[in-house]
Amino acid sequence: MKLETLAIHCGNIVTDSEKPVVQPIALSTTFIHQPDSMIYSRANNPNRAALEKLLAALEMGEDAAAFSSGNAAGVSVFQALEPGSHIIAPDDMYHGLKKGILTLFAGVLEASFVDMTDLKAVENAFQPNTKLVWIETPSNPLLKITDISAVAQMAKKRNVIVACDNTFATPVFQNPLNLGADIVMHSSTKFFGGHSDILGGALVTKVKDAFWEKVKNVQTTGGAVPSPMDCYYLCRSIKTLPYRMKGHAEHAMVLANFLSQYEGVEKVFYPGFKEHPGHEIATKQMTGFGGILSFQVKGDAAKADLVISKLKYFTNATSLGGVESLIERRAASEGPDTLTPQNLIRVSVGLEHLDDLLEDLDQALK
Ligand SMILES: *Cc1c(COP(=O)(O)O)cnc(C)c1O
Repeated sequence: MKLETLAIHCGNIVTDSEKPVVQPIALSTTFIHQPDSMIYSRANNPNRAALEKLLAALEMGEDAAAFSSGNAAGVSVFQALEPGSHIIAPDDMYHGLKKGILTLFAGVLEASFVDMTDLKAVENAFQPNTKLVWIETPSNPLLKITDISAVAQMAKKRNVIVACDNTFATPVFQNPLNLGADIVMHSSTKFFGGHSDILGGALVTKVKDAFWEKVKNVQTTGGAVPSPMDCYYLCRSIKTLPYRMKGHAEHAMVLANFLSQYEGVEKVFYPGFKEHPGHEIATKQMTGFGGILSFQVKGDAAKADLVISKLKYFTNATSLGGVESLIERRAASEGPDTLTPQNLIRVSVGLEHLDDLLEDLDQALK
C-alpha cells in the first residue's frame, strides 16, 4: 500500500456484525472475559489498537504506543531508561521535553545538550553511561537539520538507542526508522491531529526488543493513555494527513520565499532554502520540507509583537500543525532561559488560500 492508501485504510478495523464502513468508538472501559479478548481500557481498547496499527504502518515500524500527549510519549522513553543513564539531546530540543529531562529526572538521569548539526560535538558527547541519543529534526523553532543516519551510526557503534522526534516532518516527509533510528516520537497534537482539537502523542519502534517492552510497560502501567474518542479522531484526521502535508509544505515554501525578499525581515529559517545550512541533508533524508518556518524581523521583540498584532488570518497562539495558520513570538512561550532570538516569529503555515496569507503578511510588515 502507498502512504495515501494506508492512511485511509490501515486504522479502520471494523469487526461489528452491522458492518459499518467506519470503525465505531468503543467507549467501554472493560471487556467480557474470553480467550484473547481485551481486558481493560488502560491496557488496550479497540480504537487505540487501530490507531497504533496505523502509526506503526505509517512509520514502517513493528509496533506503536499511543499516549495522551507528545510529552507523555517522550517522557516514557526517558522513564524506561535505567537510573544513572546519560542522554545526548539537542541544545534546541523542544522546550517542554527538555524541561522534562531537567526537572522530572533531576538526580536520576544525566543529559548533555549539544548542537546536533555539529557531528563532532555529538561524537564528543558520548559517555560510558550514554544510553540514549535523542534527535529532533527539523527542530523547533529554528528548523535545524540533524543528519539522522550519521548520528545513528555513531550510536550503533556504542550500542546506544536512538530516538527521533519526527513531529515537524511527519512520516509523509521523513521516516527516521529507515535512516537508523530505533524509536520515532510524535506529538500527534500537531499535524496528525491537524485541526488543533486533539492532544496526543505516539512512539513507534523498529523492533519489539527488551527496551520496547519497558516503554510499553510505562505506557500501560503509567497510564498516560489516550481515550477511545481521541484515538478515533486521530485515525479520522490521519486519513487526510498526506494531502494536508503537501498543502502545508507548498504554502510554507511560497511564504518563506516571500518573507526572504521583504526588507523588514532580517532572516528566514526554512530547510527548503538552498542557503539553509541543513538544506543538503534535508534533501537527502526528507521528501518535503514541511509546513513550519520561522523568521526574525529587523528590530526587537516589540517590533515582532507589533507585526503579529496586525495580522488577520494568522492567529497569535502557540502550537502548530493545524489547518489554520498560527503565529507566535517563540521566545515569549519558551520562557526566560530560552536560546531562541527574541525577535524570532514562528509560523505554522495553514491551508487557507495562499493569496489571503500573502496579502495579510504584506499589510502587517509594511
Ligand atoms: C508540541 C511538541 C511536543 C510536545 O507535544 P505535546 O503534545 O504538546 O505534549 C514535542 N515535540 C515537538 C517537536 C513539538 O512540537
